[in-house]
Amino acid sequence: MVYLEDTYRHKGLRKKLVETLVKKGIWDENVLKAIEKIPRHYFLDSGFLEFAYEDKPFPIGAGQTISQPYTVAFQTQLLDIRKTEKVLEIGTGSGYQACVLSEMGARVFSIERQKSLYQKAKSFIPTLRYPVKLFFGDGYNGLPAFAPFDKILITAAAPFIPEALKEQLKTGGRIVAPVGKGDIQVMVSLVKKSEDIFETTEHGHFRFVPLLEDKAEDH
Ligand code: SAH
Repeated sequence: MVYLEDTYRHKGLRKKLVETLVKKGIWDENVLKAIEKIPRHYFLDSGFLEFAYEDKPFPIGAGQTISQPYTVAFQTQLLDIRKTEKVLEIGTGSGYQACVLSEMGARVFSIERQKSLYQKAKSFIPTLRYPVKLFFGDGYNGLPAFAPFDKILITAAAPFIPEALKEQLKTGGRIVAPVGKGDIQVMVSLVKKSEDIFETTEHGHFRFVPLLEDKAEDH
């Protein structure tokens, strides 16, 4: 049993983190509010509590990382989230990003391919009372049973945008994803103009762990 405590010190550190994000160019008030509210230190292993509010990524087990707060804020801002929108996240990881989206009023569906991370998020997130729906599987396939989605967020480096995800997006909807085969990816925002017309814009360079295309891993 992990003992969770959100102290004044943690709250103060979150305020500072939000100030840092504003300085780095994040302006969406709803994104900033969600980051100020959610105790990011709950999502890190206890050894890293000291660092939870630095603007850095951190290991979360199974060779994966919780994205840097700036990256979470940047992707969420690009998604342009409205309340009640249906959002599909690929790469649940710690579940922090999913909770940010849920805090903003989105109806969140999130897929993770590493069983241990899926299970950890599945038992932990309900304790925070976020109604996020979690799935174990390969994000390349999306979630056809729950499509279409208003927004789709990929939080791992995608060599390309999977066709299934484009199909599961509503017309007028948006996909945000770091795209690239090497160490560094370009942040891409894709708006679905019609069944087969997508408008792409690019938003700088980022570094993510890879989106792996294979069967989901059972450990
Ligand atoms: N959004 C997460 C950080 C994600 S790190 C957070 O807030 O903590 C990227 C995650 O994508 C990892 O957990 C990795 O296991 C997962 N992943 C990689 N390939 C995947 C795939 N094909 N389907 C689903 N998840 C995948």
